[in-house]
Order: sequence, then C-alpha cells, then structure tokens
Amino acid sequence: MKIGLHVRLGEGPTAAVQYAQSLGCSAIQVFIGNPRSYKITPIDEAMLADFAALRKTAKIDQCVIHTSYLINLASDDPRIRHGSANLLTHDLRAAAVGKMRYVNTHIGSYGERDRQEGFATVCRALERALETIETDVDLVLENSAGAGNLAGGTLDELGAFLRALDHPQLGICIDTAHAWASGYALDTPEHVDEFLCEADAKIGLARIKMLHINDTQIPLGGARDRHWHIGRGNIGLAGFRALLTRPELARKTAILETPGERDDDAANMEAIRAILE
Ligand SMILES: [Zn+2]
Ligand SMILES: [Zn+2]
Repeated sequence: MKIGLHVRLGEGPTAAVQYAQSLGCSAIQVFIGNPRSYKITPIDEAMLADFAALRKTAKIDQCVIHTSYLINLASDDPRIRHGSANLLTHDLRAAAVGKMRYVNTHIGSYGERDRQEGFATVCRALERALETIETDVDLVLENSAGAGNLAGGTLDELGAFLRALDHPQLGICIDTAHAWASGYALDTPEHVDEFLCEADAKIGLARIKMLHINDTQIPLGGARDRHWHIGRGNIGLAGFRALLTRPELARKTAILETPGERDDDAANMEAIRAILE
C-alpha cells in the first residue's frame, strides 16, 4: 500500500516533498491553487516538473490532486456548474502535466433539487471532464459523509455513477470518516468484511483507486464530516488494522487527512505504519 498525507504545496515543492519524506510517505496529496476559490491558478509547468522530479528522488510513488472544495457538479446554478467544470478540467490537465496519477474530487450537493435530475447533471459534467482526460490520469470520486443532499454518500449511488459513465479512468475514493458518517461501520473485522463485500458488489474493488484514511468521533451514521486522529476515534485501531491489511487493498493509495500539525502527522503516520508492519 502506498501511504501518505495531504501536504501544503504553498511553500513550494521542495518543502512539500521534504516534509512528506521526513514522515516516511510513499504517497502525497496536494491542492493545486486555492481550494476555496473558483479562480483558476495558471499551470506552472516548471514548478510541476520540479515537484515530479523531487517526488521521484524521494520515492514518493503516488501523487493525488484534491480538487477545490467549491466544486459542485450537481448544482442547478449554471454559474456554479461552469466554475466547477473549469476547476475540474484544470486539475485534470495539471495532473497530466505534473505526472500525478489521481485527481480526487467531491461530487457536490443536490441542494433542493430532485435527486434524479441532479444525478443526470453530475453525469453530464463528468462526461465532459472525461473527454479531456489524458491517459495516465484517473478521475476519482470521493464518497461523501451523506449530510443533507450531498451526492455520493452511498455505495449504491457511487456504483450508479460508475455504471452511467462507464469509463475506465473513472474510479472511487473511500474516505473512512465519511463512510462511517453515512452509516457504514468499519470498526471490526466483521464490519470491514461486510463493507468490502458490499463495495465489491456495488462498485467493484478494482474501481476503488484510493482511500482517505481518517478516524472520526462522529457517531455511526451521524452524517457530519469531521476527521480525527488514527486509532483515537470510533473506527479505532482494530478497524484500520482490519481494513488496511486486506490483500484486496494492498495496491491502493491511502492518504491521511487527519487534523493537527507536524507531531500529529508523525503520530498518525506511525500508527498506520505499525499496522502495516
Ligand atoms: Zn475530500
Ligand atoms: Zn472529510
């Protein structure tokens, strides 16, 4: 399994890679540009080339772009849809230029609109984005915490997107904290087994490209998006051990998005390494 964490790229690629390397990462996730703005940051080819070369030297094999939090592919507001599509295709292009394998995105929220209509809107947006994708990049849809009318809270719905688009470069990221918040228990080997059985039936385990490994203090099915330190929440070490040692997931990329600063990152990476050793 390739393991890493979300790292700030704002201080430049050298600082980002040094930080990830010092924590023993074999994967890394970054934002390209401001994650809370629709403004497009022009692609800095020299910086991306530097970043790729530094990752290679540091043996950080997998790199993920997490798209802007503002992306909402399900909106009925044409301006939001347009801004979201721009951000998504921009990140797909940056990934190709910067030799980054995965672009991970939230799908968005249906808001007040009819879910079926919203679902069709998302499909049209994904279809257009996938027309621009280059061969070495995968577009990965992240499961949501299921709050309100967020899209992608269930394995059923994620599977429905995959079937509707039927594109080999479209995959899924399972965020463990979001899965827990939308009602999927992951705290024991039996629960992990049930989850993976259902995921295989509804998505296909091959289509799960990535995991966001976050613990959570939210009650099961609590439909809120809060990440917590590995082993100190409701999923717990037993849950992460059961999940991360499954042979079917051995070739996936796993990214921590746990809170806190350097000491917390080191402790969370250590907790994962201890499980995998
Ligand atoms: Zn996310
Ligand atoms: Zn989250």
